[in-house]
Amino acid sequence: MKNKVDSIFVTKSFLPPISEFNKYLDRIWKSSYLTNQGPLLKEFEEKIKKYLDVENFHFVTNGTIALQIALRALDITEGEVITTPFSYVATTSSILWERCTPVFVDIEPNTFCIDANKIEKSITKNTKAIMAVHVFGYPCNVKKINKIATKYNLKVIYDAAHAFGVKYKGKSLLDYGDVSICSFHATKVFHTIEGGCLVAKSKTTSNKIDLIKRFGHYGDEHFSLGINGKASEFQAAMGLCNIKYVDQIIKKRKKIFSFYDKFLKGKFKRPKINKDSEYNYSYYPILFQHENQLLRGVKELNKNNIFPRRYFYPSLNKLPYVESKQSCPVSENIASKILCLPLFTELDINKVRIICDILTKIE
Ligand SMILES: *Cc1c(COP(=O)(O)O)cnc(C)c1O
Repeated sequence: MKNKVDSIFVTKSFLPPISEFNKYLDRIWKSSYLTNQGPLLKEFEEKIKKYLDVENFHFVTNGTIALQIALRALDITEGEVITTPFSYVATTSSILWERCTPVFVDIEPNTFCIDANKIEKSITKNTKAIMAVHVFGYPCNVKKINKIATKYNLKVIYDAAHAFGVKYKGKSLLDYGDVSICSFHATKVFHTIEGGCLVAKSKTTSNKIDLIKRFGHYGDEHFSLGINGKASEFQAAMGLCNIKYVDQIIKKRKKIFSFYDKFLKGKFKRPKINKDSEYNYSYYPILFQHENQLLRGVKELNKNNIFPRRYFYPSLNKLPYVESKQSCPVSENIASKILCLPLFTELDINKVRIICDILTKIE
C-alpha cells in the first residue's frame, strides 16, 4: 500500500538525551537519597515554580493522587461535587474514591469545558465544591465559576492535567481556583514519567497539602490523616531533564498543529481557543459529523497503522459504576464523535499529511 507507515499512536513520550538523565542518576547513586523530599526534588520544584510562575507548589507521584489530596486538603470528605462529564476518568473516580457524589453539569459545545451557565441550577444544600477541567488545555470560564463559588461558598478545584504551561490573562492557568492540579504523566506535554502537582491559592491549604502528602506527620509528631503522595528523586531527575526542553516541545507541537489545520482544510469542527489564553498545543481533537463517520475514519487510519484515540469517550455520566441522574446531551454527543489525532514532537510532517489525506476523503 502506498501510504503504509510504521505504527503511529496518538502520542509518544518525549525522552531527553540519556546522557543528561545519567548525570542525575550519578548524583542519586552518590547520595543514596532516593525519595522523601530529596535534593533533586527540591531543585526541580524551584525550577518548575519559576517556569510556571506559581507559588504553593507540590510535586506528587501522579495527577490522580493530586486530585484526591486536593479534596482532602479542602475538607471535602462527603456531599456533592459538581463536575464535568467530559474528561479522563480520573476526574470522576477521584471524587468517588473520596466517597463524594459527582454531580454532572453538561459542557459548552465550543470549548468542551463545563458550561458555567448551567452550574447554578445543580447546586443543592449538599454541594461542597466544583471540580472543573480545562479540557485539552482550553480554559474554563474561570470568572463565572469563581463568582458562583463565592456566592454559594463552594470550593473550586481545577483539574488542569492538560494545561501545563497554559496562560490565561497573562498568568498561569494553574493559579486559578482554591487548588489546581496538573499531571506530569508520560503521555502529557511535560512529564516526569509518572507525576503531578498541586498549586494552592492559600498558604493554609498549601500547608495542609504538604502534611497530607507525607502521611500527615513531621518526624514523630502526627497532625492529621495522610497518604503517600511523595514523588521520588528519579521522577524529579526526569523533570529536571525535560523542563529544559519544554519550550521546544511546545513549539514543535504548535508547528504540527498548524499543519493539521492546513491539511484538514476546515473539514472538521474544532474547539475554539480562547483569545485571552496562551496555549500549549496539548491535543488535536476533531469532531466528526456522527459516530458512524468517526468509526469509518478510525478504520481507515487503523488500516494504515495509525492509531488515534477516542478522547474522551464515553461521557463520564455513562460510566457503569456511576449512579447519575443527570443527562448531559452535549457531552454525550461530543464524546460519540470526537477523535484526538497523533501529536508528539517526533511526528513527521509527511505522516501528518498522510493522516489528513485519509481523513479528508472520509464521507
Ligand atoms: C491524565 C489525567 C489525569 C490523571 O493524571 P495521572 O497523572 O495520570 O494520574 C487526570 N485528569 C485528566 C483530565 C487527565 O487527562
